[in-house]
Amino acid sequence: MAKIKRIALIAHDNKKPEIIAWAMKNKEILQKFSLCGTGTTSKRIQEATGLEVKGYLSGPLGGDQQIGALVATGEIDLVVFFCDPLQAQPHDPDVKALLRITNVYDVAIATNVATADLVVASLSKDN
Ligand code: PGA
Repeated sequence: MAKIKRIALIAHDNKKPEIIAWAMKNKEILQKFSLCGTGTTSKRIQEATGLEVKGYLSGPLGGDQQIGALVATGEIDLVVFFCDPLQAQPHDPDVKALLRITNVYDVAIATNVATADLVVASLSKDN
């Protein structure tokens, strides 16, 4: 796997508490990476953890597409995207597009805490 340097963080509204808790739990590791995320997720993580997280637009307003574009241009190595499987999202096409583009470029994407924990465990060995 390519060396991970840049991580994008995204969570749907009902999953924001989970990504904040996950970021707090993994703060020591995450601070070694360049972090970015969709608007609200990045702001909430930054406020809760003090980590520097570059914010893009809010997901429903184009943020998922911005992150997707960064994946396509090789500027993101890992996406942590906690999707809500129980609530319809107005920007579902953008969510699907982001999942698709990570598969096009074989970029790692963790869509739940269990997977994100496994990825972080592997990151902590390398970094
Ligand atoms: P948000 O977007 O971080 O701006 O809430 C996330 C999303 O719903 O894709």
